[in-house]
Amino acid sequence: MFDLHFDTALAADYKSKSQKIRVLTEEWTVKNAFCPCCGERLPHYENNRPVADFFCPACREQFEQKSKRNSLGRKITDGAYDSMIDRLSGSDNPHFFFMTYTDDAVKDLLLVPKHFFVGDMIERRKPLAPTARRAGWVGCNILLEKIPDSGKIFYVKNGVAAPEKDVLAAFQKTTFLKNASASLKGWTLDVMLCIDALKKREFTLGEIYGFEQILHAKHPDNNFIRDKIRQQLQYLRDKGYLTFKGKGLYSL
Ligand SMILES: [Zn+2]
Repeated sequence: MFDLHFDTALAADYKSKSQKIRVLTEEWTVKNAFCPCCGERLPHYENNRPVADFFCPACREQFEQKSKRNSLGRKITDGAYDSMIDRLSGSDNPHFFFMTYTDDAVKDLLLVPKHFFVGDMIERRKPLAPTARRAGWVGCNILLEKIPDSGKIFYVKNGVAAPEKDVLAAFQKTTFLKNASASLKGWTLDVMLCIDALKKREFTLGEIYGFEQILHAKHPDNNFIRDKIRQQLQYLRDKGYLTFKGKGLYSL
């Protein structure tokens, strides 16, 4: 079980508040968190890596951590928009940890596996004003609301740590998405979000058809939305994400 408190002695030598917080939050993760694929600890990357903060020596997976005070909210501010979009298609894309903290402890630690990131989830921010030091620079936000529930894996939620085996199992359930083709993945995630919106363990095909207009608005060139829904439900069934109980009934 995690000790959620920060080791505040680590920050004693740092003057700036942002540096102190960075040291406390990252060292907490090094000491406590584990790789969701294999359960190994996660050492720091060598300094000045452009992208990731941690990596798993066993499976070579990379992790980036963003932290903020108090609550996660609907969006998380990240770096440059263009490099974020480029990274989504690259092989060195990291998994993301989102941490919230209080004065002296971790409140939430949320993992979003890299295979859940598609362009839809990245919001382009307004370019910085001409008077800004980095005038014209364009940052991005990560939109948490566009990520299906199964892609939000909590190590710690509201001050309560999840058992390690639950985290590993929740991650395993999603790994089929790693191999999903980019063109179909958007559809898979869209259908997952529809299932989440129903907020129940069992649902009917008809209930998912209820999202036809919303999906059509998102994919205006596609005139076979119901076919696409059935195809995605079948895919999710084949991958063990849901079960088909017959007569148009599905269960998670
Ligand atoms: Zn690993």
